[in-house]
Amino acid sequence: MLLRWTDDDFKIHSRTGRGVDWPISYDDLVPYYGEVECALALYGEVDNIPTLPDSIYGHRAEMTAAERTFKDDVESKWPERRVVTWRYIGPEPTRILPPLRDAIASGNLDIRYNTVVSKILTDNGGHRATGVEVIDRVTREKTLVHARSVILCASPVESVRLMLNSASPRHPQGLGNSSGTLGRYFVDQLPCVVTGTYSKAKGWTTADNAPADPFYGPSGGIYVPRFIATDGNTAASDFAFQGSIGRYSTPDDANARFSFFGYGAMDADPENRISLDPRRRDAWGIPVPHIRCKIGGHDRQTLKNQIEAIVETIENAGGQIEYVGSPLGLEEKGRGAYPDADPISRLIFRWMFSRTMVMGAAIHEAGGARMGGDAQTSVLNKWNQSWDLPNLLVTDASAFAGSGVSGTTLTIMAMTVRACRHLAAELRGGDAEG
Ligand SMILES: Cc1cc2nc3c(=O)[nH]c(=O)nc-3n(C[C@H](O)[C@H](O)[C@H](O)COP(=O)(O)OP(=O)(O)OC[C@H]3O[C@@H](n4cnc5c(N)ncnc54)[C@H](O)[C@@H]3O)c2cc1C
Repeated sequence: MLLRWTDDDFKIHSRTGRGVDWPISYDDLVPYYGEVECALALYGEVDNIPTLPDSIYGHRAEMTAAERTFKDDVESKWPERRVVTWRYIGPEPTRILPPLRDAIASGNLDIRYNTVVSKILTDNGGHRATGVEVIDRVTREKTLVHARSVILCASPVESVRLMLNSASPRHPQGLGNSSGTLGRYFVDQLPCVVTGTYSKAKGWTTADNAPADPFYGPSGGIYVPRFIATDGNTAASDFAFQGSIGRYSTPDDANARFSFFGYGAMDADPENRISLDPRRRDAWGIPVPHIRCKIGGHDRQTLKNQIEAIVETIENAGGQIEYVGSPLGLEEKGRGAYPDADPISRLIFRWMFSRTMVMGAAIHEAGGARMGGDAQTSVLNKWNQSWDLPNLLVTDASAFAGSGVSGTTLTIMAMTVRACRHLAAELRGGDAEG
C-alpha cells in the first residue's frame, strides 16, 4: 500500500492543538509524490477524497463484489465515511524496483554489500560529517568511507541508533543532538484488528489486476480513510482502516470472510524514545537500541473511538464480527475467534494475542530525529539536514514530526527525493530553494 499523507498529518497542531506542525506542508511534497508514483506505476482509482489525496496511477485497481456491496452500504448510510480501493505497487519479478534500477543505470551508484555502518564520522570541530565507519559483515574488518555529504535512510530506529552511537566530545549526547530531542518523540500508529464473515456475499475471488507474483499471493483490498468533517474538507477522525472482503479462500457456498486492520495517529510524547542499551551489543559490537513506545491517555481514547467506529461500520453494513482486538485487549463476539479451529489452537491464539497486538504491531514507526522550524526543538531542518551538521541528512521516517494513519513509505520516498534535490542544488552551488 502506498498512500499520500495530508495536511491532516503535517498540520496536526493547527487542526487539533496537539503535537507540532511539520515545517513542510502537503503542497511542498506534491511534485515529489507525483514523481515517485510515476516511477512506481501504482494501482489505484481516482477517488476525489479530501482526507486521502489521489495519487498518479499507472494501472486500475479492482474491488471484489463483496467489497463493492460493503462500499455502497457504508457510503449511503454515512457519506463522510468513504471506502476506496487499495493503492498499491505491483509485483516486481526482478526484485529490483525501478528507482534502484535507474540509479544503477546512471553509473553513479556503488553498492557495497555486507557492509554495516557503525558510526558517522565528523571533522575535528564536529561541524561537518566526513563519512562513515563501516564493518565488513564477514571479516569484521573496520574501514572508513569518506564523503562530502552523508544521507541516512536506514529506518527510524537504526538511523537514530547510528547518530546516538556517533557521540563525541563535541556531540556528547549523540551526533546532531544539541536540542536534546534526538531519539525522542518516537511514535508508531495505534493498531487494531477485526475479522469475521460477511453474509451478503459468498465464496472468494482475487480481483487483482497485477501480474501474478512467484512468491506472494494476489494483492488488493479496500481502505477507509479518515472520516470527512462537516466542512467537507478536513478530517473528523484520526484513524483509518485497511482490509479486504471476500479475498480469503472459503468454500463457494460459505459466507465471505473479511479482515480489517486499523491505524490511529499516536501522540508524539518526548518520553517515548530510542536510546542506546547500556549493556547489550549486537553481533558487530554496536550497542542495541532500547525502544520505549507506550500509549498515553489521549491515545487510549483514540483507540477506543477507532474500535467503536470500525465495529459500528462493519455491523451496520451487515458483517458478523468474530473478534476485535488491540493493545486494549481482545473482545470475541458471536462464535468467537477462529470458530472452526481446534480448541488448542484457539487457546494459543488467545494466549498469544496480548503478546503480539502491542505497540509496534502497526509497523509504521516514525520520529526520533524530527524535523522542525528551529534548532532548539528539533533535530533536522525542513530539508532533512541536521541543524548541527548541515551536510548530514536523515530522510527516513525518523524525520517525521508526528504520527499518521497511513503507511510511511510513499512519504519517505517523496521526502527523500525532495531533500536530495535540495542537497544536489547546494553542492552545485545553485538555487538550493528550487
Ligand atoms: C511487514 C511490513 C509491511 C509493511 N507494509 C507497508 C505498506 O503496505 N505500506 C507502507 O507504506 N509501509 C509499509 N511498511 C513500512 C515500510 O516497510 C517502511 O516504512 C519502509 O520500508 C521504511 O523505509 P526505509 O528506507 O526507512 O527503511 P528500510 O526499508 O528498512 O531500509 C533500510 C535499509 O538500510 C539498511 N541498513 C540498516 N542499518 C544499516 C547499517 N547500520 N549499515 C548498513 N545498512 C543498514 C537495511 O539493510 C535496509 O536495506 C511495512 C513494514 C513491514 C515490516
